[in-house]
Amino acid sequence: MSESVAELAAELPLIDHHCHGVRTGTATDAEVQLLATESDWPAPPGTSVFDNLFGITVRAVCAPLLDLPRHCTAEEYLRRRGELGGAEVSARLLAASGTERYLLDTGFRASTITTPDELARLTGAATEEIVRLETLAESIAPGCTAAGFADAFDEALDTAAANAVGVKSIIAYRYGLDFDPAPPEPAQVTAAAGRWLTAIEAGAPARLAEPTLLRHVLWRAVELRKPIQLHVGYGDPDIVLHRCDPSHLTGFAHATRTTGAQLMLLHCYPYIRQAGILAQLFPHVWLDTSCAVSHTGPSSETLVRESLEIAPLHKVLYASDAFGLPELYACGSWLWRRAVGRVLDEWLADDLIGAADARRYVEMLGRGNAVRAYGLE
Ligand SMILES: [Zn+2]
Repeated sequence: MSESVAELAAELPLIDHHCHGVRTGTATDAEVQLLATESDWPAPPGTSVFDNLFGITVRAVCAPLLDLPRHCTAEEYLRRRGELGGAEVSARLLAASGTERYLLDTGFRASTITTPDELARLTGAATEEIVRLETLAESIAPGCTAAGFADAFDEALDTAAANAVGVKSIIAYRYGLDFDPAPPEPAQVTAAAGRWLTAIEAGAPARLAEPTLLRHVLWRAVELRKPIQLHVGYGDPDIVLHRCDPSHLTGFAHATRTTGAQLMLLHCYPYIRQAGILAQLFPHVWLDTSCAVSHTGPSSETLVRESLEIAPLHKVLYASDAFGLPELYACGSWLWRRAVGRVLDEWLADDLIGAADARRYVEMLGRGNAVRAYGLE
């Protein structure tokens, strides 16, 4: 093989199996800074998110794509971004990500970002939809009765899932992964729906955090026999971190292993090793290092290396978890390619894999595993 794995990884068209739409229009400087972190807190005076590990990567990797010198200042970067406008910045940075297909979670702040069709037009790439279970339940809650909730949700899920390649649960952030792994009884679902709907009628926001209903919608998704994406670990400011450890999913993985559903563990940081063990032990558990790779920037190689420790190579996927900010797609892709190239080049140099294996594994990790998991071709 004349090329290094790093060169192969740099050129491979990727399937981004977990991401969101890009922001439409031009973001203000304040919005850019907010979208560039998972934290709700602003950076202290004299610093900015461009001093975070993601921001450092933006100034190194994205700056030249916007005709700026590498390592430009935050002020220079934001000024140039504003000059070019949102559409041009998105076009340049999404093209640089080298993504051939995006699988989009359409259930989070959908009004501010592109739909799958809009992203397909913007990039020329294929797009697919992932349905977020909690958002779907919240959309049918107004006008539902407690006794009618289960049927109404079934109908809504069948309709929404017909055009989607998978679904997603955020039970990690709404409750924790330490939920009762058994499906709830119908009477428990009706009683829980009654509590939730009564609270909504009394003025509470229609935010699904009722554990019985979270389990119910998750188990309904199991019956679809499609991939179910589950957020794990880092990736949201309102988490109780230790309850997002995927070790808590062991019982649910046992309970679902012969159902035909696939459990796609997203983010996984800092529990990448726990996720990798589950991916080795269970035939239907997969993992990625999305979100965290972008936010760990120059240090992200460690995360990708951990994802390649014990999980079978046919269970590890690429994803950016980009939301809104085109820099997240560009940096997520660039950092992941760099890390995979470095790790596999070491294996190649140590003669632990041959050139044909190296080619095959890079292709599997970057796109082939997603094709198989989601039945894309
Ligand atoms: Zn995510």
